Amino acid sequence: MRPEFATSLARAAAGRELEREDIIALLGAAPGADADALFRQADDVRARMAGEEVHLRGIIEFSNYCRRRCYYCGLRADNAKLHRYRLMPEDIIAAARQGAELGYGTVVLQSGEDPWYTAPILAGVIREIKKLGVAVTLCVGERPREEYARWREAGADRYLLKHETANEELYARLHPGMSWQERLQCLIWLKELGYQVGSGNIIGLPGQTLADLADDLLLLRQLDVEMAGLGPFIPHPDTPLGGEPAGSAELTYRVVAVARLVIPYAHLPATTALGTLAANGRQLALTRGANVIMPNITPTEYRPDYQIYPNKICVNEGPEDCRHCLEGMVRSLGRRLGRGPGHTLKQFMAATI
Ligand code: SF4
Repeated sequence: MRPEFATSLARAAAGRELEREDIIALLGAAPGADADALFRQADDVRARMAGEEVHLRGIIEFSNYCRRRCYYCGLRADNAKLHRYRLMPEDIIAAARQGAELGYGTVVLQSGEDPWYTAPILAGVIREIKKLGVAVTLCVGERPREEYARWREAGADRYLLKHETANEELYARLHPGMSWQERLQCLIWLKELGYQVGSGNIIGLPGQTLADLADDLLLLRQLDVEMAGLGPFIPHPDTPLGGEPAGSAELTYRVVAVARLVIPYAHLPATTALGTLAANGRQLALTRGANVIMPNITPTEYRPDYQIYPNKICVNEGPEDCRHCLEGMVRSLGRRLGRGPGHTLKQFMAATI
């Protein structure tokens, strides 16, 4: 084991707060003994902090229109090849009802940044879905503070807004017309409004370093997030980054494992993007720190068009198929499905320290 890696892992094992240099050393774990030791430790912390439950969050991708032009994303406004769709409010509510009937305790409403869904329209959708007795997570991008407040009043529990990268210069290069500071401001508003906040990054962006990834994890700790989505970069051919190499599954596992040590109380999904990059990617992530899966409950006919990245898995199955498949996956790992909404783990953390 490399000495600096061993020292940093020992600090983590002792429950000490990890410094930037520790995080870089852990992210750089060599394949074999070092990486295995990191994964074991992350799994131990996951078991202590999050238990054996894997929470399923049913996700409805209700619109693939987007006003933004992020360089890595197939939904970007400039992608004229993409067939666009919008689900009407009653169809979103029907999909949520199906998710609730399948036993999902949380419904995630995700879209591109689509102003067609005004604050009152989405507030009405949220109010109807809350009648189903599920938690509601929103993931609809940057909006004015008043709109976030209105949706919170309507009953939304959580908001997911990935910071994408903590490297401001890299952020500026990949997000024309957007501002890293404005994104951070949105995250601060969401915290102030009492949302359980999720953020996260993309792993393997062109030009990104281990130090950048360490800064991502430090930012997540600073923001005190309840959830972190940590997914690999997968190039989409109809975007400016279409010719770049994909991020690595191995590095993504390490980021998930180190995240479990840096923000031990956070819900960490085994992302669909990781499952797309590596056939058993989600299973491995669940044994290396992750504790959440986000099955797709979008009506099957629309799924192929929600193409942030290409060749996404689970686009041809129906919602019931995904439910059974994921239940089998969770049980095969000796874990069990979470019950109820699966809210923040922070209360649990306070009780165990
Ligand atoms: S990453 Fe989000 S905001 Fe950017 S183009 Fe894609 S859907 Fe739109």
